[in-house]
Amino acid sequence: MSVSIAALDSSVCAPLPVLGQDVTVPLVTGGEVTYAALDYAASAPALQRVWDDVAAYAPYYGSVHRGAGYLSQLSTDLFENSRRTVAEFLGCRADDQVVFTRSTTDSLNLLAAALPADCQVFVYETEHHASLLPWRNARVTYLNAPRTPGQAVETLERALADRDPYGPALVCVTGASNVTGELWPVKELAAAAHAHGARIVLDAAQLAPHHPVDIAELDVDWVAFSGHKLYAPFGSGVLAGRADWLQAAEPYLAGGGASRKVARRADGGVDVDWHTTAARHEAGSPNVIGVYSIASACKALTEAGFDTLVAREQELVRRVREGLAEVPEVQVLSLFGDDAPRVGVISFVVRGWNSSHFAAALSAEYGIGVRDGLFCAHPLVRTLLGSDPQDPGECGAPEAEPGERSLNAIRVSFGAGT
Ligand code: PLP
Repeated sequence: MSVSIAALDSSVCAPLPVLGQDVTVPLVTGGEVTYAALDYAASAPALQRVWDDVAAYAPYYGSVHRGAGYLSQLSTDLFENSRRTVAEFLGCRADDQVVFTRSTTDSLNLLAAALPADCQVFVYETEHHASLLPWRNARVTYLNAPRTPGQAVETLERALADRDPYGPALVCVTGASNVTGELWPVKELAAAAHAHGARIVLDAAQLAPHHPVDIAELDVDWVAFSGHKLYAPFGSGVLAGRADWLQAAEPYLAGGGASRKVARRADGGVDVDWHTTAARHEAGSPNVIGVYSIASACKALTEAGFDTLVAREQELVRRVREGLAEVPEVQVLSLFGDDAPRVGVISFVVRGWNSSHFAAALSAEYGIGVRDGLFCAHPLVRTLLGSDPQDPGECGAPEAEPGERSLNAIRVSFGAGT
């Protein structure tokens, strides 16, 4: 079998320049080739613009918030302006808070730690582990994988109708799947959640880099995303949304920055007056450069225009899918069917091939970087591969012999820099 990579060739310039676009890599067959980084869903390359902004700021950085010196004040302005930029990027409501975290995983764990007592949580088994697992100390209902967006809404409505109507409840859903790229009916799910008195958090890790996410328009209560998937470097993330649960909760981390006043008590203990702003959950010296990078990426995406970015990406989705369809051994994985709207994330298996070997061959022989495995969404990938979602087999387990069922998959993903 030969694999055509023509579908991956870029005849049009990428809408936004990213780092690493000109990196050449050696091929096992000899020579070298310009590397095609097609693993954006794991971590997107940083935008050149982000890198330039960071380089311009780096000589001046200082600690934020309490420094009286010029550099501290400059950094504080940059940090707090970044919060405003992110709030604008997400279309936040006036009373929403933007909390800076380390990543989507961190944001969702923060929200999980802030759940009110007796909160019921509803989450689809198809979620990425970052949104599937943080709720395990709450009363969690895992919803079965739906096979259409409509079924997703029905499944949620049925589950919510059965819930304790007086207690707090939270629905957690991913906006775009990191496995199939398919878009979930976020607005409809938010309406269903609110109709049953529940709140909803959107895992926008894969949605935000590809689509506008408007928290007020979608009517979701919180949004979480990661900088490193939004063309910024690693180490910073966002949780934005309703302030009340966050401010009623104990600080996520205890320490400086989260506390307004600390005093010894006569009985020998310590009294703490915690902040009621986003700072409550941002103890410790923050990742100012990471936060500034996110804001820079938000601005670059907004200026480029999501209409342009989406149109370009959809053209690439079409070409990659057409290319894959020409190879009879390829099966593209899909929950909602071939026509479902999706972002630039496509997973597939190749009959007779070990997915890990296939991915390694793409890298070594063609200079194409993709991903193989179960993509931290084990139950979903097992369902898509027709194996048991409850099977605790290992992520990235070796492929069966040719002709046998695949145990893992290959994922190609791209975005604004492709
Ligand atoms: N949610 C989704 C849909 C993801 O794809 C990922 C990462 O792949 C995450 C959450 C976790 O993101 P991070 O590793 O940046 O915390």
